[in-house]
Amino acid sequence: MSSQRVSWSLGLAGFFLLITGFDIQQDLPWPSGNPVEDGVNRYTGVIHVHSKYSDGSGSIEDIADAADKALLDFVILTDHSTMQSSLDGKAGYYENTLVIIGEEVNTSVGHLLALGVGRHVEQDGQEGLPALMDTIRSSGGINIIAHPFGRRPWEDWSLEAIDGLEILNADSEWRNDNPWEWFRAMLWYPLFPQAALNSLVDRPEQSLNQLDELSRRGHAVAIGSADAHARIPLWGDGLVPFPSYNTMFGWLRTYVNTDAPLTGDVASDTEIILKAIQEGRCYTVVEGYGPSTNFSFKYVSTDTTVSMGGRTRFDTAGALHVSVRLAGDVTIGLFKNGRPETEVNAQEAQFPVEGPGVFRVEISQARCYLPSFEEKPRPWIFSNPIWVE
Ligand SMILES: [Zn+2]
Ligand SMILES: [Zn+2]
Repeated sequence: MSSQRVSWSLGLAGFFLLITGFDIQQDLPWPSGNPVEDGVNRYTGVIHVHSKYSDGSGSIEDIADAADKALLDFVILTDHSTMQSSLDGKAGYYENTLVIIGEEVNTSVGHLLALGVGRHVEQDGQEGLPALMDTIRSSGGINIIAHPFGRRPWEDWSLEAIDGLEILNADSEWRNDNPWEWFRAMLWYPLFPQAALNSLVDRPEQSLNQLDELSRRGHAVAIGSADAHARIPLWGDGLVPFPSYNTMFGWLRTYVNTDAPLTGDVASDTEIILKAIQEGRCYTVVEGYGPSTNFSFKYVSTDTTVSMGGRTRFDTAGALHVSVRLAGDVTIGLFKNGRPETEVNAQEAQFPVEGPGVFRVEISQARCYLPSFEEKPRPWIFSNPIWVE
């Protein structure tokens, strides 16, 4: 190897160590938004996290500690093909964060999050996937397609028992950019970690199209996920715990609107959170652009109010109400049956509904990552659909 290549390699390795060292040292309490007083119980959490029980670098206690510091109400672990952490009694409250244990199942057509089953499940033989998904459902669980267009893409969308999909997967966002974008993010990272991560998020076009396709067919739920491992493998058993759990927990989140407040009881709170996810009473947030505790999307007509995930009959007096509060410019984009319907620059909007359809909204913020960079709308919040029939 020439001396120039050696010094380049050493320089890059040193730079990488600087970034990872910085990441591991910082343990930020991420800011929490002031919740709106509108009678809705909103909770913020991170779904899809790996621990040492599979290929993550942290123990359940490490993860719970990072989640608590990130002010998460809940975190859902999904280790690969194991529920051992559940058998070891690791589910439950750690300070103020509820740890819920699910599983990421390796199927013949991709990775599947099985949430709320309570025991280990696996695909039996090449033809066993429909039976597996039926078992998950009949055990009260939820079938969520993981990283549908990521490293291990999902290959069969005709399956009846798909309940939903990850529209954003932080691990995929980390990897799906070109080398220059990745390098630029790494350069910024030591000084502007949040801006660096945000610069990696793109509007998940394919996943949103798939969500629209599934929701035309029936009920479908969109979630955002961290797919956090806090691990970059090195030679042998070596690893760098990067990006840290804390970093990932402050980047991409799923908020849920529950029908009852959490009480501190592990079993009932777990059920309340999972039921809200199952019914689509949740939304995905690029938390790096700011907390979104104040987001609301509902259909209101003369005698009924329906929230995300809900279904209602068309009524000539009905309108969709959207609100989000932020000290900055936001754009609300309304989608009907997968097509952009209208867009307004406002923090509050009402859209009269003139006919049946599947409606969802996307909120973006006008941002430049760093001063003097171009200001553009950046994707921030993705709602779940409301069905007007
Ligand atoms: Zn996976
Ligand atoms: Zn995973």
